Amino acid sequence: MREKQRVLLFAAKLGYQTRSFEEAAQKLGVELVYVTDRCHELDDPWGDGAVAVQFEAAEAAAQTVMEKFRAGRVDGILAVGDRPTIAAAYAARGLGVAYNHPASVQACRSKLRTREIFREAGLRTPWFVGVAVNPPAEPALLGISYPCVLKPMSLSASQGVIRANSREEFAEAAERIRQLLALPEIRAKKEENLSQLIVEEYIPGREVAVEGLLTEGRLQVLAIFDKPDALEGPYFEETIYVTPSRLSGEVQREIVRCASAAVGALGLTHGPIHAEFRINEEGVWPLEVAPRPIGGMCARALQFVSERCGGTIGLEELLLRHALGEMKEVPPREARASAAMMIPVPKSGMLEQVVGEEQARRTKGVTELFITARVKDTITAWPEGSSYLGFLFAKGETPEEAEATVRAAHAKLRFTITPQLPVEHPVTGQFHKAGS
Ligand code: ADP
Repeated sequence: MREKQRVLLFAAKLGYQTRSFEEAAQKLGVELVYVTDRCHELDDPWGDGAVAVQFEAAEAAAQTVMEKFRAGRVDGILAVGDRPTIAAAYAARGLGVAYNHPASVQACRSKLRTREIFREAGLRTPWFVGVAVNPPAEPALLGISYPCVLKPMSLSASQGVIRANSREEFAEAAERIRQLLALPEIRAKKEENLSQLIVEEYIPGREVAVEGLLTEGRLQVLAIFDKPDALEGPYFEETIYVTPSRLSGEVQREIVRCASAAVGALGLTHGPIHAEFRINEEGVWPLEVAPRPIGGMCARALQFVSERCGGTIGLEELLLRHALGEMKEVPPREARASAAMMIPVPKSGMLEQVVGEEQARRTKGVTELFITARVKDTITAWPEGSSYLGFLFAKGETPEEAEATVRAAHAKLRFTITPQLPVEHPVTGQFHKAGS
């Protein structure tokens, strides 16, 4: 019997996305092995196959993987989420599997390094400066102008990203980020550069996300998502993604050119990328490129049509096939327009009740609705938060229709959130949230 092909999936978080990879692997008859630092969360889908590592020690993690598979076959490597990508890159290099170079992946993990590389490559770059979180920076000494944006150096999902229009707002934002980065749950992630911020010029304009796939350095774009809600701050929680883009063909070509130049400058060569761009009258500005697919559930908005693969396939199947060396040419996205809404968190507090789910789900054009926050959970709004209440998906003949559908369905949902009042700690005198 022919030996099964094996793909290693580096993942910090096991959930919807990793389950979709499992389903795709089963369909393709491929063995999927998790490399993860969340082994306690596994319900052991593949026997005892998962490899336990610490992603923050990327080279040691790669060593563990190499020792385990040196004698066995590894046909492809994939990583989901930002944290596992560096370990995946080292392991791929050690095992001789196609992936990105560790230095390129590392550059993507630092917003400061990414900016330096884009500037050196001649891409449109706002002014930017790296500053320590503590002691708080005195904006007058930084020679900055307003509006500007303050961002933690290596968090994601817009967590801790704050716009400041004045010196006062700058000081407030810097303090807020300092407190966020000091939280035990953030420190526990052991992200790099937790003591640094990047401050950069605010770039006005529209924003798009690009989902792409690199094969030996060549970028093929899978989808350009418009973000129809204005993202003007002060916080930058995402809401709606719609594809195909309604931007002109010329602007879309310019986005693809900018995306290719950005991945080329970073030195990324293989596998999925998710990138963000702003567009204004000056042109296309790269915000960031991540060497991984679109996060969590949003991949469900993408379906591709391939006769060779037996009809319609999802992003995970496409990525698995690509990791195995198939799919040198990516199939087209389905003809229908597709919208995804990351359901916003209106305020922080305890989620008491969710009503209207069935009505929202029955809205014509809605394909799926997932409420991922659980009743009685403490939920956190942006900029401190990074988890949405759920995800809504719709299809339509046009992007306008798909967008209108997710908005109509969202309007039927009611979330009751009770604020948790800060109470004074009897000993320290510090305020903390009741029940937290
Ligand atoms: P993250 O990795 O946390 O998503 P980003 O650098 O992509 O961090 O920033 C998150 C969001 O904040 C962006 O999608 C964009 O809406 C906004 N943003 C970030 N930098 C700027 C900027 N210089 N000008 C305007 N908006 C920005």
